[in-house]
Amino acid sequence: MQNNDELIEKYSKRAIGILKRSGIPAYPKFYDLFYTYASGTNFELNRKLNEKFASGICPDLQFVEALYSEFLSSKGVEDRLSAVTDEILGTIAKVHTTIDSAKSNSDNYSEMLDNVIGDLSEQSDQKAISQLTIKLIKMTKEMQHANEKLKDELATAKSNISSLKDEVDQVRQEALRDPLTKIDNRKSFDRFLANAVTNAEESGEPLSLVMIDIDHFKKFNDLWGHQTGDQVLRLVGSTLRSGTRESDLAARYGGEEFALVLPDTNLEHAIKVAEKIRNIIKDRKLYKRSTNENLGRITISAGVATFRSGDSSESLVERADRCLYAAKHNGRNRVIGEDNPLVKKIKKVA
Ligand code: GH3
Ligand code: MG
Ligand code: MG
Repeated sequence: MQNNDELIEKYSKRAIGILKRSGIPAYPKFYDLFYTYASGTNFELNRKLNEKFASGICPDLQFVEALYSEFLSSKGVEDRLSAVTDEILGTIAKVHTTIDSAKSNSDNYSEMLDNVIGDLSEQSDQKAISQLTIKLIKMTKEMQHANEKLKDELATAKSNISSLKDEVDQVRQEALRDPLTKIDNRKSFDRFLANAVTNAEESGEPLSLVMIDIDHFKKFNDLWGHQTGDQVLRLVGSTLRSGTRESDLAARYGGEEFALVLPDTNLEHAIKVAEKIRNIIKDRKLYKRSTNENLGRITISAGVATFRSGDSSESLVERADRCLYAAKHNGRNRVIGEDNPLVKKIKKVA
């Protein structure tokens, strides 16, 4: 087995080799893209690039730019957020201008009112009084009109801000969602688990983690094609979501690996949740959507660990991974909790 440094060197050489052969400038982002490709950690990215290589056409700059935006950069989300931020700032600036002009209107009005009232109190001539009254009515009407305008402008700004807020919420949600399965993504998992670990440490409440991996999924893909494989990923994602509580987190951890973060749940209970999900998935008959062909069934393996005081997210994931590895090692299609003696027999997770 290669150690980490050897692997990094291997991927790095491969990435540079591809950059040279395709004549793509070795900008850090393109190096990053081909390094990810060489490491094989992003299935969809590799599929798209492999298709391109297989077609005999060298990927060009435009193609790799598009891949970078799709897979590695969070630019889509950033661009939308910055556009929304600009709009919000624009709306706030407009509201400020409206308020300033309303203030100056009202200052003018009260100054003129003082003057007219002063003039009126000194007048006894009926004609002059009537002229001052007309002036007073005109000024008041103008002020009323300005107030109406202010009300409308503020109402428009309020509705703008509320739809912009919805947009920000939507972008935020998308940034944490896996586009294929529509459940939470790795970023959301990392964030949720870090919070859950802190809460568990502070409150002493239990917290469990289930790491799940589809069994022999490579074979399934090879047999039925990746699109049908994607259908299975969606099914597993939705089973995890519907099989857990609202307050739990079901996430796609990467490729065909999933995770459940179960706050307020001890080891025994978490194993039960994982068993329930394992059973639902193994009992499900699969059919190819396009042809209705019977695809047989798939199974999952799961490892379950529970929080111990002093744990970090990493140490908890590591123990659950170890259990998952034990589940794979002992025949797959099973759930293994960290209290299971089989875990001790596993020397090291590959
Ligand atoms: P094991 O039981 O040991 O887990 O075997 P496995 O074949 O599932 O494991 P391995 O890690 O060798 O292969 C994982 C496969 O998952 C590789 C790839 O074919 C598939 N895969 C990963 N991500 C995706 C994806 O986004 N879509 C599809 N269709 N397949 C994916
Ligand atoms: Mg795997
Ligand atoms: Mg697998």
